[in-house]
This record gives sequence, C-alpha cells and structure tokens, in this order.
Amino acid sequence: MTASPTIPTDLTEFAAHLRERLAPLVDEYAGDTGARPADDDRIAAVEELREGHEAVVEQVRRFQRALFDTGLAWPSGPAEFSGMELPATHQAVLDEVLEDMGFPSREALFVGLNIVAPALVHHAAPELANRVVGGLYRGELIGCQLFSEPGAGSDLASVATRAVREGDEWVLNGQKVWTSMGHLADVGEALVRTDPAAPKHAGLTMFLVDMHAPGVTVRPIRQMTGGAAFNEVFLDEVRVPDSARIGGVGEGWTVASTSLGSERSTMSGAAGPLTPYVTERLVALVRRLGAEADPIHRRQIAKTVAAVTAMRTSAALTPGSWTHHLAPMSGSVAKMLMVRALDEIATLVAEVLGSDAFVDSGARDEFAWSEFVLGVPALHLAGGTDEIQRNVIAQRGLGLPRR
Ligand SMILES: Cc1cc2nc3c(=O)[nH]c(=O)nc-3n(C[C@H](O)[C@H](O)[C@H](O)COP(=O)(O)OP(=O)(O)OC[C@H]3O[C@@H](n4cnc5c(N)ncnc54)[C@H](O)[C@@H]3O)c2cc1C
Repeated sequence: MTASPTIPTDLTEFAAHLRERLAPLVDEYAGDTGARPADDDRIAAVEELREGHEAVVEQVRRFQRALFDTGLAWPSGPAEFSGMELPATHQAVLDEVLEDMGFPSREALFVGLNIVAPALVHHAAPELANRVVGGLYRGELIGCQLFSEPGAGSDLASVATRAVREGDEWVLNGQKVWTSMGHLADVGEALVRTDPAAPKHAGLTMFLVDMHAPGVTVRPIRQMTGGAAFNEVFLDEVRVPDSARIGGVGEGWTVASTSLGSERSTMSGAAGPLTPYVTERLVALVRRLGAEADPIHRRQIAKTVAAVTAMRTSAALTPGSWTHHLAPMSGSVAKMLMVRALDEIATLVAEVLGSDAFVDSGARDEFAWSEFVLGVPALHLAGGTDEIQRNVIAQRGLGLPRR
C-alpha cells in the first residue's frame, strides 16, 4: 500500500484528491473495460449481473485490489483494517467519485464490504477479522448474508437453521433464502440457532461459513426483472470451525444488529441504488421530454425533488462516525428516506415514459429504465421491510411501547 499523503477534510478538496490519486487506474479499469459496455444504458435499482458475469466479477475483484493498493479502499474504516478513519461522508464521496470516473460498479462486493466486514470488525476474534476483512477489501473474497429463511424474514429471530457443536467444530443444517450474491460468494455470514431451549433472540449465534465447503448448495432464484441476483442456500451437515464464530455463543442477535444497521445506512448512500448518476439521468430524461412544462408532471417532479433532497440532507446532517452508521435507528431512518425517494423517481419515470419504459423500442434512455422501475419494490423489502424499519424507529429510536 502506498503511504497516504495529507488527506483534505473539506469534502470538495477530498473529491479532488481522490480524482488525482485514482487517475492512474482509469485506463485499466474505467469506462468500457468489460464491467459495463459503453452502449449499455440500463439503470437498475438492484444491480444484477447477467450473461458473462464471471468476467465482470473478475474485473471488479481486480479493481478492488487496485483500489486497496492506493490506500483509498475504506475511507471511513478503522486504521487497523487499512481504513482512513474519516467520517462516513468521506466514504460517500469516494463512492460518488468512483461512479463518476466510470469505475466498475462494486455491487458484487456490497454485502461483504458493508454487511459482513462491520460484523467482523466489531465482534470477531482478531485473527478471523484480520484475515477476512483484509480479503474482502482486497477483492479476494466475496461475502454474502445468510440471515433470511423461508420461515424467518421480518421475524428474523425465528431462524431455524441449527448449529450443533462437535469438539472444535459446529455442524450446520438448514435452509437460507434471498441470499444476494450467494452464487458468487466465498464466505457467508450465517445466523443460526445454537440453543433451541433459550428465548429466541438469546439462542442465536453467528458464524462465517465457507461457501465452497462440502454440504453448501446454492440455487439461483429468477426475478421479475429478468436477473437472478439472489439465491436459496442449503446447508447440509456443513462443518464450521469454532474459530469462524463471529461473537460469543448466544450473541448472534447483537452481531446481526450491527450488520443490519450498516446495511441500511450504506444502501442509502452512494454505494446504494440512488446514486448521483441516477438523478443525473433522471434530470436529462425530464428535460429531453420537456416534462417540466406539463402541470401533472410538475407535481411529481416536485415530490421527487423533495424526497431526494430530504434523503441527501438527512445523510449530510447525520453524525459522521462509522460506528454511528451501525446504530439501528439511523440505519432505519436512512433506509426509509431512500425508499421514499426511489418510489418518487420510479413514479415519475413511469409517468413521463408511459409504456415506453416497458416496451423495448430500441430508443435510448427509455426501456433502459424498466429494470429500475421494476426493481424499486424489492427495496421496500431488502434489508428489512418498511414496516420493520418503522417498528425499529418507534421502539428502539423513540422508545414507544411494543403493541
Ligand atoms: C433485493 C433483496 C435482497 C435481499 N438480500 C438478502 C440477503 O442477501 N440475505 C438475506 O438473508 N435476506 C435477503 N433478503 C430478504 C429480506 O431481508 C426479506 O425479504 C425481508 O426481511 C422480509 O422478509 P420476508 O420476505 O420473509 O417477508 P415477511 O417477513 O413474511 O413479511 C411479509 C409482510 O408482512 C409484514 N410484516 C411482517 N412482520 C411485521 C410486523 N411485525 N409488523 C408489521 N408488518 C409486518 C412485512 O412488512 C411484509 O410486508 C433480500 C430481499 C430483497 C428483496
């Protein structure tokens, strides 16, 4: 890793600093380098890797390695994990600059970097945390989140996948579902039941599962957008060493809360679906169609601008430390503001394009939006549904009684 020069605290200067230091990577990694062909104008709410995805993933891994080598991979991360200990706002600037400079989308790495790594940093033994967090940030490992099950989604503490201890190992049996990027993953953060007799939140433990281990079967699930970004994962007599436990036995719920807080905060930032690129494309679309002159569209444009501004303003006002972004309440607020903004954008796009958004006429910037509009409903569910975010805000944030 190169020694880091003085890092500007001012965000505009920081962005300029990043651009300068990332410029040497442009030729090899930015633009039409296999990650996304230049003629592909699709906009997705949930980015999905399709045909030829192996080459895309390989390119993203190599880019992540190059980014790590510049020392810029994790602006808000702790120094002992090669982070720069900067506020989360600086992290957001990095994500924006990477997108603006045309570097590949790091969607395939999102879960590992933003869900699995925080859990390891906060709860795992140093040996496990160092090895795996380093691997995730160098692009050597792709992570997935093995939380949801057919019988445990919103009521996550009901997970039924069992882990039984045998000496220095645990034997896992059960089924997970909706596992984003599970088909690409090397490691999975698995919430499992270790004590069926304990109250449900207390009987859980978190493990890091080797996704290539015997007994792990991954089956992709086809979505209405046409992609297959998530999977069913079957765990059949999967042996996991006790050294791969994240946190204490019975402390799985605490570890899951760390991951979920980070997931909800980061998916609402520039690493998530509502990037400056999306809003720029939206503004261009509205202008091209002259939609701002239509009184009906003007109303929806105003609602969209208000929702996007609320989301960005809230992010800018949120305390900047990385640990704050792990807090359940701030993650839930950020996620609710994000889905509101996405809804308004999708409504506006559907309104101004009508059926052109869904019927591919070959025209640029029309059918390109279909994946976005169809993908937005999924974000009301991913990372916990809207109803669950409202419960978190009410109970853990505002201290209101449970019903
Ligand atoms: C794009 C996407 C990616 C995902 N990726 C992953 C992943 O990588 N790993 C993973 O583990 N999971 C993942 N999920 C799963 C996601 O976490 C669950 O879908 C979500 O938690 C909801 O669970 P469920 O689908 O079982 O719905 P249910 O829990 O069955 O909910 C059904 C409905 O009932 C409502 N409801 C349930 N309980 C309450 C309550 N107490 N109060 C009020 N309303 C309630 C819900 O809000 C919802 O509207 C992903 C989901 C999506 C859409």
